[in-house]
Amino acid sequence: MLLNVNRVSKIFGGLIAVNDVSLKVQTNSITGLIGPNGAGKSTLFNCIAGYYPATNGDVYFKEEKISHLPANKIATLGLARTFQTSQGFAQMTVMENMMVIPKGQRGEHPWWGLINGKKVKEQEEEHRNNALKLLEEFGLLERKNDLIANLSAGEARIAEIARQFMLNPEVLLLDEPAAGINPTLQNQLVKILLKLRAQGLTLLIVDHNLGFISSLCDYIYVLNLGQNIAEGTPQEIFKNPKVIEVYLGG
Ligand code: ADP
Ligand code: MG
Repeated sequence: MLLNVNRVSKIFGGLIAVNDVSLKVQTNSITGLIGPNGAGKSTLFNCIAGYYPATNGDVYFKEEKISHLPANKIATLGLARTFQTSQGFAQMTVMENMMVIPKGQRGEHPWWGLINGKKVKEQEEEHRNNALKLLEEFGLLERKNDLIANLSAGEARIAEIARQFMLNPEVLLLDEPAAGINPTLQNQLVKILLKLRAQGLTLLIVDHNLGFISSLCDYIYVLNLGQNIAEGTPQEIFKNPKVIEVYLGG
C-alpha cells in the first residue's frame, strides 16, 4: 500500500469538511476521488499533502506516518500535488516555473547557495537539463520561453503537472486536472497520465468529469458532505444507487 488515509477528519470552525474518511491507494494504481462541489475533496488533498493539519486521523505514505509533516517535507518524500486553480506563477515563463520547485520546495535553506557557489551551479545545471527533458516529454518544449499567462488553460495545467516532476514523485495527487480544458487537451492529458502510470507512477485524481475519471481509474472513492459514501471499480460505482442519487439529484 503506497498511501493509506486512516479516518481523517478536518473541521473548520463548526464545519466538518472531511468526516472520518479512509482510503487506500495501491502502488502504481490510478485511484479516483469524486463527489459534488463542497464534498471535501480538495480539503482531503490538503490534509494528505500537508497543507492543512488534519483535525483527526493519520496519513501513511510508504508505511511512514506523514500526517505531522509540513508540505515541503512530504514533497521530498515523493508525494506531490497539483492545485485546482493555478498558484500564481502567471508572470513566469514555463522554464522559470519548472525551476521554482528545486529552488523552493526541497527543504533546503534558501541561502545555502551563498556558502557553496560551485555546487549550486552544478545543481542548477542538472535541474535545467532535467526541466528541458520533462518539457519535451510533456510536449511543452517549444513553449519554454512563453509566460504561463499566455498558455491555454490546458497547457497551463500540463505545465503544472510537468513542474511537479522536478522532484521525481512516486505519487501525484491531481485536483480537477481536466476542469476547463478542451476535449483535445483532455485526451492529451489522459495519454500523458497513462504513460506516467506505465512508467511506474501512482496517481490519485479528483475530478467532476465522470467520463474522464472512468477512462482512467482502477478504483474510485465517492465523497458527499465530507463522508465516504461509496467505493469500488468504475463499473460498481456508476451503478451504485447512492452515487446515482448524489449525481442525478434526489
Ligand atoms: P470540494 O473540493 O469537494 O469541492 P472543498 O474541500 O473545497 O470541497 O470544501 C469542503 C467544505 O469545506 C466546503 O463547505 C468549503 O466551503 C469548506 N472549506 C474549504 N476550505 C475551507 C477553509 N480554508 N476554511 C473554511 N472552510 C473551508
Ligand atoms: Mg475542490
